[in-house]
Amino acid sequence: MACIFCKIVAGEILHYTVYEDSQVIAFLDIFPKVEGHTVVIPKKHGATIFDFTSDEVGVVMQGVRNASMKVSDILKPDGFTIGLNHGEVAGQAVPHLHFHILPRWKGDGGGSMHSVVSTENMRDVREIAQLF
Ligand code: AMP
Ligand code: ZN
Repeated sequence: MACIFCKIVAGEILHYTVYEDSQVIAFLDIFPKVEGHTVVIPKKHGATIFDFTSDEVGVVMQGVRNASMKVSDILKPDGFTIGLNHGEVAGQAVPHLHFHILPRWKGDGGGSMHSVVSTENMRDVREIAQLF
C-alpha cells in the first residue's frame, strides 16, 4: 500500500485524530498553515470526488461538518475556509480524496477562495452558460 493516507487509515503512521467514524477520519495536517489545520478523508481509497458515489461524498461532507464543529468547539475560530485541491493542477499532492479545514481568525491576513486563481481574457459568462 503506497498511499500515505491509506497508511493513516490503517494506523501505520502517527497522526493526531480530530474526528473519526466508520467511514471518515479527520486528523491534524502535519504541515499546518494555521492552528487547527485539519484534513478530512474517506477511509476508502479514491483520488477525487469522481471516484466515489454521491452518497459516499455526502458521508465525507458530513465528516467535514463534524470535524469542523469539533475544531470550532476547541479552538473557537471566527470562521473557516473549507476546500479541496482537486487534481494535480489544483495543487493536490496526495492522491487520496481529502478536504482541508482551515480555521480562520479576524486579522489572520489570509484571503478568500477568490484569491486562489484569477484569469484574464476569459470567455464571457453568458457564452459559458450556453455550454450547460
Ligand atoms: P494536498 O496538497 O491538498 O494534497 O494536501 C495534502 C496535505 O496533507 C498537505 O497539507 C500535507 O501537509 C498533509 N499531509 C501529508 N502527509 C501527512 C501526514 N502524514 N499527516 C498529516 N498530514 C499530512
Ligand atoms: Zn489512499
